[in-house]
Amino acid sequence: MHIIGIDIGATNTRFVLLKDLVVLRSRKISTPKTKKEIIEVLEKNIREIAIKPGLSKIFGIGIGVPGPLNKKRDLILNPPNLIGLKNCALPEIIEKDLNIKTKIENDANCFILAEARTGVGKGAEIVVGITLGSGLGSGIVVGDRIYQGFFGNAGEIGHMTIKFDGLKCSCGSIGCFEEYASQKYIKRRTRISAQELNKLAVKGDKSAQKIWQEFGRNLGIGLANIINILDPEVIVIGGGISGANKFFMKSARKEIQKRVLSPISKKNVKIKITKFKGFAGAIGATLLFNHYEKSSCF
Ligand SMILES: [Zn+2]
Repeated sequence: MHIIGIDIGATNTRFVLLKDLVVLRSRKISTPKTKKEIIEVLEKNIREIAIKPGLSKIFGIGIGVPGPLNKKRDLILNPPNLIGLKNCALPEIIEKDLNIKTKIENDANCFILAEARTGVGKGAEIVVGITLGSGLGSGIVVGDRIYQGFFGNAGEIGHMTIKFDGLKCSCGSIGCFEEYASQKYIKRRTRISAQELNKLAVKGDKSAQKIWQEFGRNLGIGLANIINILDPEVIVIGGGISGANKFFMKSARKEIQKRVLSPISKKNVKIKITKFKGFAGAIGATLLFNHYEKSSCF
């Protein structure tokens, strides 16, 4: 059974072709800005990646997209980081053009679905995933299923207020977690990227290491809120910035110890770093098709 998984990010879009849980082909392209261009490159790359075994043999296409989405999962609402997809009925368009069943889900939910079913969260009852990148994505998996919430948009942890009089966020709110624990914070604080800051810290630069500690403190405050509300068994940290975890996790854990109410939760909650490289979201998108449930072959 062949399935295509796609992860549309604000910067890059990733494609994978899977057969029976094995990745046959993958590719990464830059994400265009307008809806027309996005659909054009999606369909062009789907055709190319499916050239063998041929489009007609593709069982389904799962796509991770920036949220928020409607509950029915057939419409992208108003994604602040990729406004070209505002009010886009993406599954309907792709299905009509290519005649292949297409499903969409919030991109961070796809990542955490991959982690909960096949990665470092495997076997855990309640898993929360955080992706640290240009923004802060997140998702909640309970009993192997994405917890969507009543209206369809649970788990927008990046837009939880952690500073009530803080900075304005791209979503329109103030003091969002994302402003303090993503690339945005590093850029504002240092004028350089998280990758460059990580390189400096690796070289032993004390001021770079200090900024990572501050970043970890911010992250830990948000994680403590999550633990107090959801009491998860595992929290998975992913995204490009997670590679710098050795410089920020110590101070994050310190905040958790300070701020979580339950002594049992703060002692036992497992915080794990993703082992997946950049394609976890695209692989997770293929898991939107039910016959892959509880698989363990990645
Ligand atoms: Zn926000």
